Amino acid sequence: MKKKDTYYLTTAIAYANAAPHIGFALELLYSDVMCRYQRLLGKEVHFLTGTDEHGQKIFKAAEQSGQDSQSFTDEQSAKFSELADLWNISNDDFIRTTEDRHKAGAQKFWLASMKNGDIYKKTYTGLYCVGCESFKTEKDLVDGLCPDHKKAPEILQEENYFFRLSNYQKLLEKLFEKNKSFIVPASRFNEMYNILKNGLEDISVSRSKEKLPWGITVPNDPTQVMYVWFDALTNYITALGYGSADETNFEKFWPAVHVIGKEINRFHSLLWPAMLMSAGLETPKQIAVHGWMTVDGQKMSKSVGNVINPAELTAEYQLEAVRYFLVREIPFNDDGDFSSEKFRERYTADLANGLGNFTSRVLTMVEKYCDNQIPAVANIDNNFINFIKTEIWPNYLKNMDVWNFVHAYEIVWKLVAACDQMISDRKPWILAKEGKIQEVKDLLYHLCEALRQIAIMIYPVMPETSEKLITQLGLDVNIELSKSLSDLQEWVDLTVGNKINKGEILFPRL
Ligand SMILES: [Zn+2]
Repeated sequence: MKKKDTYYLTTAIAYANAAPHIGFALELLYSDVMCRYQRLLGKEVHFLTGTDEHGQKIFKAAEQSGQDSQSFTDEQSAKFSELADLWNISNDDFIRTTEDRHKAGAQKFWLASMKNGDIYKKTYTGLYCVGCESFKTEKDLVDGLCPDHKKAPEILQEENYFFRLSNYQKLLEKLFEKNKSFIVPASRFNEMYNILKNGLEDISVSRSKEKLPWGITVPNDPTQVMYVWFDALTNYITALGYGSADETNFEKFWPAVHVIGKEINRFHSLLWPAMLMSAGLETPKQIAVHGWMTVDGQKMSKSVGNVINPAELTAEYQLEAVRYFLVREIPFNDDGDFSSEKFRERYTADLANGLGNFTSRVLTMVEKYCDNQIPAVANIDNNFINFIKTEIWPNYLKNMDVWNFVHAYEIVWKLVAACDQMISDRKPWILAKEGKIQEVKDLLYHLCEALRQIAIMIYPVMPETSEKLITQLGLDVNIELSKSLSDLQEWVDLTVGNKINKGEILFPRL
């Protein structure tokens, strides 16, 4: 049976040992932009985020706060779902790894992998980084320290279960060679491919319950809990009902596009696909790896005192403007920098003086010259229509498809600039004085249509502004946004005679 046109996207689940970080907000935002875009394309989207709530670090953090682990994670997890609401993230589900639906699925997964002969027990002495929640080999360390945590790992001896990652060396190589866009960007693909080519070792996938009471119990062995990654990664399928009585969503939506930060690429690109193959399931569609955000050119850190709290950022500035700035300024594929100065510059240029001013100019003229109604057109400007049809839309779509939001929105603002230029060139106020009122109406008709199409293009990044624009043009938001994208690109006389609703200024000057 042919699968419906579905699109399943997940963020990584946030580790719930501290308050949400701007990096996670950025990941939610990129994911939200992509999901809203896919919905515009007419796909049936399922968008998942959530929290990772087991493991040593959380156990210790709960102990330090004097709470039991469950109430600690209840409190922490709520902060992440509140952030998703606050940032207007359109996720369809929010999974917590302490939920029963997840535990049941993770255990079923374990059994499937074990049945396949890929999980075995052995005594192991190794170097363990608590920060990473993983064993390290000598070659992972830099000057004896974990490169991510700058700490020497602990020596740990335990009888643990191991996963035969080495069994999947050849199959993973095949997967990588067959699909060069399995990981994007290419630099991240190459990084993982090199690690793969160096050879994979089996990894420990459980801990003794005595040492770590906070985790999912290994099926048929109450003395062991699952290693936090082996537990956490399965959230992407347990959220779809894998392992439950109803696997409809799993069958409908899997496999996923996983959006992650570069620091956890290895777990997603090497371990997770091997785990899935071991359980007899399809590997992910794609791993999309985003970079990190710096502030004023520096890495964020508590000691520097430049850590940005996402809730504070949107309390200080308008949410839609923050969303636009981050997507426009911080390339998905790379690291990018935030500074208040840059924010103000882009806000003023693109939003206050750009889109906001353009909208206000057009609607004010419609009020003044067209009796507050979208005017009928006498002469269609085919050059202008073709410019939007053949230059703006295809470039916008092409860039959105490959996470190149920076260029996609650069192109949309090229259209805003072209529209502004048309007003400056034609000087409708002079045409009106000369009594050439139909010429004014023709111009305004085209500008209103352009504005309608701009409203659609900005929907993924600024959904509220998009809806305001559609409403200001006298259109029904629900009707417009339920149309197919190809219909939305058509120039039809939908709007003629409609009363406009010139509302508030979209982006007041700072
Ligand atoms: Zn580490």
